[in-house]
Amino acid sequence: THTLEATAPVTALSLSGVRHRFDQHVVVKGVELTVEPGEVVCLLGPSGCGKTTLLRIAAGLEVLQEGRVSLRGDTVAAPGRRHVPPEKRSVGLAFQDSALFPHLSVLENVMFGLKPLPAAKRRERALARLEQLGMANYADTYPHMLSGGQQQRVALARALAPEPRLMLLDEPFSSLDARLRDQIRDDTLHVLKKVGAATLLVTHDPEEAMFMADRIALMRDGTIVQTGTPRELYCAPCDPFVVTFFGEVNELSGVVTNGKVTTPVGTVEAGWLPEGSDATVMVRPEALRITERPDSATAHEHSHVVMAKLLGRSSLIHLCAHSQSGEEAHLHARVPGVFLPAEGQPVTIDLDLSQVFVFAAAGAAAGA
Ligand code: ATP
Repeated sequence: THTLEATAPVTALSLSGVRHRFDQHVVVKGVELTVEPGEVVCLLGPSGCGKTTLLRIAAGLEVLQEGRVSLRGDTVAAPGRRHVPPEKRSVGLAFQDSALFPHLSVLENVMFGLKPLPAAKRRERALARLEQLGMANYADTYPHMLSGGQQQRVALARALAPEPRLMLLDEPFSSLDARLRDQIRDDTLHVLKKVGAATLLVTHDPEEAMFMADRIALMRDGTIVQTGTPRELYCAPCDPFVVTFFGEVNELSGVVTNGKVTTPVGTVEAGWLPEGSDATVMVRPEALRITERPDSATAHEHSHVVMAKLLGRSSLIHLCAHSQSGEEAHLHARVPGVFLPAEGQPVTIDLDLSQVFVFAAAGAAAGA
């Protein structure tokens, strides 16, 4: 039965105060997370941080131990009181190794989830989804005749066919080879946005999360460290872990003096940290702007190039930097295009401060 949509959108998925343990091992430690209608949220984090467990709790595949799960405003799981089983949650599920039914054709696999509809309607809907994922020509073939990537597309089509208002996807692209993966990510995002499905997608790949997500929830060790748009996490990371998760970074240390930290590559503001405390300065390789200097006679006193390598779209430069007080630091810089200064070349280094982040050093007393 169809009811009229209320004008105020109802949060598609809400997890609150979710904790979960396996035996004595607590793997989800109090998670708050929402997915709004039409929104793609990526649950991102290293292996073993609890992403899959959280997704399984949302799907109802794992019985909730503590907290609450709501779908479109209805509580579907509350410990000891309610557990709506997965098939009654009207969510679309697709996993890394989503098994298709081997005895059903591609079309029948996709039609399977559309049981309540009349046959002609089911067929039409299934074909439309296969078309969107570039698999309409394979409708009459069987899963074993398809490559892994094609099977994964069919699995996505099957999950999307009932037009669920919530999609739960666990590493749906990780079994695909790199070239195919980009294409299928693209197609999947297109379909998700077209259908307007709220989506929670688990991935350990930061680039995938940045591509797919309206918002990213970055997890570590059972907790969400930061939630925000890809831009917020990349440009305003709340914690050193968030910086390092999105790529290699140079870590320098210094002492907060007059509200600033001086490093061999420049001075940065740190007025919010206690005077005299130890600070960590995280400098992305892209933050280092390098200019060649003519005075090679004094190379040892200045910053100089240790090694330069062309990686394709960018060049990687290993640098040795010297501060005025004689401190030395080794850094990696990444420069777009071909930039291959000679070993020993003296350079001037400028910092793009938008790619530099300052935190209290680990173990330093915060907010003293
Ligand atoms: P990955 O990306 O490797 O799948 P993840 O972030 O999805 O990692 P989970 O699969 O949620 O992490 O696992 C979190 C922790 O819980 C891990 O330490 C894992 O070993 C453990 N775990 C997961 N499922 C079970 C289970 N059924 N029984 C016991 N321990 C489990």
